[in-house]
Amino acid sequence: MKKSLVKELEKRLGKSSVLISEGDRALFSYDAAYGEKVLPDIVVFPENKDDLQFVINLMSENEIPIITRGAGTNLSGGTVPVSGGCVLVTTKMNRILEINEKDHYAVVEAGVVTKQLADKVEEYGLFYPPDPGSMSISTIGGNVAENAGGLRGLKYGVTKDYVMGVKLFDMAGNEVIGGGKTVKLVTGFNIPGLMISSEGMLGIMYEIILKLVPKPATSKSMLVEYSSVIDACNTVSEIIASKILPSTLELMDNFTINAVEESEKIGLPVKADALLLIEVDGHPAVVEDEFIMVKKICEKNKGYVKVADNNEERDNLWTARRKALSCLARLKPTLILEDATVPRSKIPDMMKAIKENASKYNITIGTFGHAGDGNLHPTILTDKRDEDEFRRVEKAIDEIFEKALLFGGTLSGEHGVGLLKAKYMEIEVGKGTIIFMKKLKNGIDPKNLLNPHKMGL
Ligand SMILES: Cc1cc2nc3c(=O)[nH]c(=O)nc-3n(C[C@H](O)[C@H](O)[C@H](O)COP(=O)(O)OP(=O)(O)OC[C@H]3O[C@@H](n4cnc5c(N)ncnc54)[C@H](O)[C@@H]3O)c2cc1C
Repeated sequence: MKKSLVKELEKRLGKSSVLISEGDRALFSYDAAYGEKVLPDIVVFPENKDDLQFVINLMSENEIPIITRGAGTNLSGGTVPVSGGCVLVTTKMNRILEINEKDHYAVVEAGVVTKQLADKVEEYGLFYPPDPGSMSISTIGGNVAENAGGLRGLKYGVTKDYVMGVKLFDMAGNEVIGGGKTVKLVTGFNIPGLMISSEGMLGIMYEIILKLVPKPATSKSMLVEYSSVIDACNTVSEIIASKILPSTLELMDNFTINAVEESEKIGLPVKADALLLIEVDGHPAVVEDEFIMVKKICEKNKGYVKVADNNEERDNLWTARRKALSCLARLKPTLILEDATVPRSKIPDMMKAIKENASKYNITIGTFGHAGDGNLHPTILTDKRDEDEFRRVEKAIDEIFEKALLFGGTLSGEHGVGLLKAKYMEIEVGKGTIIFMKKLKNGIDPKNLLNPHKMGL
């Protein structure tokens, strides 16, 4: 990085918002995925829209790639600066600009932390449902760019269902405004839609308008123990088929239950082959009715139901689920969290396929996930330095994806493509789609400076 350029950046952003030492840059050479590390040439933290535009213009003039980064929690290598360049971190653009109680929307800067927004809107009796497991650190910008899901996807949908408007800069420094504050808006292309799942490759969002909904009046949770994971999966399919929509319907297999219990000591049933964590929410009368119906379905499928009687028990359940990934991560040096998603009726088949896969390749896989969405997270615990095991792991991953596609599913329900799933893209979407996406990217960013080489483009 040219000294004059660094000086210009330091003058504009302040020295503390420009990182150039190798040690500092190393912290931005990776994200939450297990893949390769690559050092960026510089890391910057703009604090507002004008500084952001200044950085973009400077990088554009000098043809330096920009890799936009929120909290770096993505699980697909999406913020690894594969060809060096400038990592632009949005975490200092973190103001909640408006919460509109009458019209049910919020306007936030892209670096606002998801949970911060979710907690704030509850003070107004409103609700922002998308709740990725990482919500206490992930940013709204990162959620939009990855179309993050979460535990409430079954009833409330995912991030894309809440994005009403975006403001962004393209790599030429043009300000682009898409969508707005009205429920209906059809002027021009659906630019918010374009930014959803764009993985930092089309533009850099600085402001986002999000739909809010009324906060559910009440909720009720239960933990259901199973001596067979297949019974748990059948329960999920039957609940969905019965047309009840729990707000959350999560699955943990025996390996994951034990990993969480060992770390958290909250009294999870360590002998259970699997457990389901279920919450229904809404009007008290409806909640009561649906809860009874769900309980019956669980019991019919040989589940042992334990109702969370108070807030502490309820919080324990959901803490257990949210900590699944970090508890598994403690067990081995390398954790590979996969994201294969299938139509919900295929969950029992997918679960069986994952189990067979683990024994075929003699590897450790703990599985948990958003069973109600068909979105399972087979989590492979390994050590990348063990070359022989890692070769088997790679084959196992290929087969898990093959199976997901065979069952009519997808490579990724919520974690995005980034670097790690790039090689599988064409298999799922076909050549024509790749050409279409390349044309789109090339038209908007002809020099390929925005998060280059992701999604295999
Ligand atoms: C413990 C844990 C649990 C998780 N649980 C879930 C889960 O339940 N559901 C789920 O969907 N994901 C989950 N994730 C994955 C991850 O948290 C999400 O993908 C999240 O949306 C990433 O947000 P971030 O701010 O960390 O973005 P980053 O990782 O920093 O960036 C992600 C992508 O967004 C782009 N980007 C970031 N900000 C902007 C912006 N302002 N403008 C344009 N592009 C931008 C980046 O270039 C990159 O391509 C989990 C991750 C962890 C570590």
